[in-house]
Amino acid sequence: MSDQLAELEDLHLKHDLLGSIEVGIAVVDKEYKIQLWNQFMESHSGHSPRKVRGQSLFSMFPEIDEAWFKQKTYPVFSLKSPAFIIWEQRPHLFNFEAYRPITSSTELMYQNVTIFPLTSLTGSVEQICIVVYDVTDEAISKQRFEAANQQLQQISRVDGLTGLYNRRYWEEQCEIEFKRAKRIDSPATMIILDIDKFKFINDNYGHPAGDQTIRTLAKIIAKAIRETDIAGRYGGEEFTIILPDTDVNSARIVAERIRRLAENIPIEYEDQTFSFTVSLGLAQFHRSFGTHMAWIEKADRGLYQAKESGRNRTIISE
Ligand code: GH3
Ligand code: MG
Ligand code: MG
Repeated sequence: MSDQLAELEDLHLKHDLLGSIEVGIAVVDKEYKIQLWNQFMESHSGHSPRKVRGQSLFSMFPEIDEAWFKQKTYPVFSLKSPAFIIWEQRPHLFNFEAYRPITSSTELMYQNVTIFPLTSLTGSVEQICIVVYDVTDEAISKQRFEAANQQLQQISRVDGLTGLYNRRYWEEQCEIEFKRAKRIDSPATMIILDIDKFKFINDNYGHPAGDQTIRTLAKIIAKAIRETDIAGRYGGEEFTIILPDTDVNSARIVAERIRRLAENIPIEYEDQTFSFTVSLGLAQFHRSFGTHMAWIEKADRGLYQAKESGRNRTIISE
């Protein structure tokens, strides 16, 4: 075989390889002018090699941030070290469409990109090769997995009946807030509230009507507090709220708002209408508390006094 023929065969082989390979290959020179463009790049960009050859990468693909890309590829030219771009950091270098079923949630192809130097015969790097991997499937499954995990986490934190935090998660948050209150010199107040004569509601209107009352109270609480306050269902018809950076006098206003709303919002269940009241105990954080339980117990003493002194009232535990 003549040398020429061998060279031609070699070229043909390379052409076939570049054409059939399921990754994008582009070569650019030091001016970022495109020198090589394989079949993958052609079919996803819609631009033929003939059209892009000699063109600036940045004018053909304005979605590529020129300053950033130059900075990224500088070491490839100067230090001959490869560079990597992963989809978690930058979902796509080229805005290629993802060829996926219409049910898919994504429109653009997620890409991992490797850029490596092409050394010339003299040893200098005159060109770099950009290899584009389509990682859309991987990216989507990872995102779905993370979303499912987040949902699970959310479910494990929340009480099913009310949508407020469950006791376990609330107590975790309570401990965190307790430590924070100890560390910084800022007040925080705990509210414990309990529906009055709830057994009577269950006995007279039925358990589902009781549930409806619990749900209504949870809504009242959620409406009355701030986003930074931490409300949970502590037990059956008992709720706890931590108000960070709030002294007991300001917390009392919140507590009274909840008490009055509860008193004034009638519960309608099937053809029955009835009203309900709540009693509330308050305790401001004090650095003498050994654990968060001491804080809860102090607020609970306020609740006990509220019950003892006639219910439907707010008592600050002294
Ligand atoms: P008090 O004013 O002293 O709080 O009287 P009370 O009747 O509310 O007394 P207590 O707190 O002891 O009663 C709570 C009742 O709540 C007992 C239990 O059967 C009921 N309960 C607990 N969890 C639920 C629930 O999820 N749904 C319903 N409907 N009832 C519940
Ligand atoms: Mg009760
Ligand atoms: Mg109770």
